[in-house]
Amino acid sequence: MKLFILMTIAAAAMAAEPVRVGMAVRYPVEMGEATRVAFEQETTAAMAEAGVELVWGARAGEAYDRVVVVRFKDGCADQGRGRALGLTHISDGRVLPFVEMECGRVRQVIGEDGEMLGRGLGRVAAHEIHHVLTSSGLHDAEGLTKAVFTRRDLWSREMRFSTAALERMRASLQQGGGGEQRASAEE
Ligand SMILES: [Zn+2]
Repeated sequence: MKLFILMTIAAAAMAAEPVRVGMAVRYPVEMGEATRVAFEQETTAAMAEAGVELVWGARAGEAYDRVVVVRFKDGCADQGRGRALGLTHISDGRVLPFVEMECGRVRQVIGEDGEMLGRGLGRVAAHEIHHVLTSSGLHDAEGLTKAVFTRRDLWSREMRFSTAALERMRASLQQGGGGEQRASAEE
């Protein structure tokens, strides 16, 4: 009987169901519709390649494999100091599921509002979500997990995850994409 249960679990894990990630986003009031739509589209497309389905507007009481909270710092107005375009937080060596977007700085680098800004923000968000899902601060030489984004990166027609980044995400999601599995694995 035990063997039967184990085999069932193994089979379920092999069928590559997308991991559902609930996105709880607080948008700044001044952010326009075009920016918001482009942001969600760009982030969704990038994460889909890693087998992750983003559900925008996550609500309490709904079931997701993971939840990521996104906040746009200073309502996209202030450029602030420093060079980071986005941040994730680490506590006791663990990456927390909170992404902070330095929206004003992204806007400054892109030099434009609307769709271009939304697309750039989506690329920064995908980069940070990779940190959250893999619980690592690793970067790659190419693609969305590059340590530094240039204006050219943000303006380029397409920016995707490198093969290395995709494999890293798939591996950590398979090890325990669900919160419960993860918790029990660490006990
Ligand atoms: Zn990073």
